[in-house]
Amino acid sequence: MIDLHVHTTMSDGTLTPSEIIALARQKGLQAVAITDHDTVSGIDEALQMGLELGIEVIPGVEISGACDYGILHILGYFINHNDVGMLAELDYLRAQRKNRISQILKKLLQNNLFISEADVIRESHGSSPGRPHLANLMYEAGYVKTRQDAFDRYLRKGAPAYVPKVKLEAADAIRLIENAGGVAAIAHPHSINVTDPDKLNDVMKSFVDMGLKAIEAFYPQHTPEQTRLFLNIAEKFDLVVTGGTDFHGSNKPGVELGVFPNVNEIPHDMVANLRNRALSR
Ligand code: AMP
Ligand code: FE
Ligand code: FE
Ligand code: ZN
Repeated sequence: MIDLHVHTTMSDGTLTPSEIIALARQKGLQAVAITDHDTVSGIDEALQMGLELGIEVIPGVEISGACDYGILHILGYFINHNDVGMLAELDYLRAQRKNRISQILKKLLQNNLFISEADVIRESHGSSPGRPHLANLMYEAGYVKTRQDAFDRYLRKGAPAYVPKVKLEAADAIRLIENAGGVAAIAHPHSINVTDPDKLNDVMKSFVDMGLKAIEAFYPQHTPEQTRLFLNIAEKFDLVVTGGTDFHGSNKPGVELGVFPNVNEIPHDMVANLRNRALSR
């Protein structure tokens, strides 16, 4: 078993990098990619723990890209997580996250919900704060009945405290990963929300032209039809097939590390394929 899309407490997951690797060991996984949003600060700890427990750890990151249709997330694999150019861009993105959170806190206050910046820093371990952290704090403070309720009533797009996120252009997100020696993959490709086959073809071609090299065809929420569709796209554009669960611990209920409900087992050669693609650039 492998899992190439995992979040830790360095972004909006609830397990520390060490806890992720320990859990991977317990579940019998061979390889895990750490792919936190806009930060690589969990990677060294995961690599260290991986060496101790005999789990292969792939350094990764997840970056949001601007998209006219739906949600575009780009994963980077086998990045040099000490690349100075990349670290500077990620610093910028996290600064924008903090800005956005301040704006959301103001809007929450206008709706008589008080959450402090200090609470957010604590909840997000001072790293890469996002709406899931706010939902947790709103729930703990008793402002909402559930974390989902926090999104539905305040945080979702169109709700009273919504503030859009500053995103990189898709080409810039891909270039950033390439420049750090990594392989760029499109995460949970169903979320770009393009269903027309010709349109999907055009959109994917545009990403490939920007340097996209892999596609997350295996994803827990993908139906068998979607998995097949994305495997076909991988073949058509010579993309490496990847698979990841987007595990966030208790911040994403129903998702288990390394478990793909609609698939027996995802292929293992994807790690070698990604590594080869990273080395052959
Ligand atoms: P952010 O990066 O701050 O925009 O937060 C995005 C994360 O919030 C996503 O990865 C989801 O886990 C969660 N999220 C976004 N929209 C919703 C929603 N409508 N309901 C529940 N969770 C959501
Ligand atoms: Fe997340
Ligand atoms: Fe994502
Ligand atoms: Zn993710």
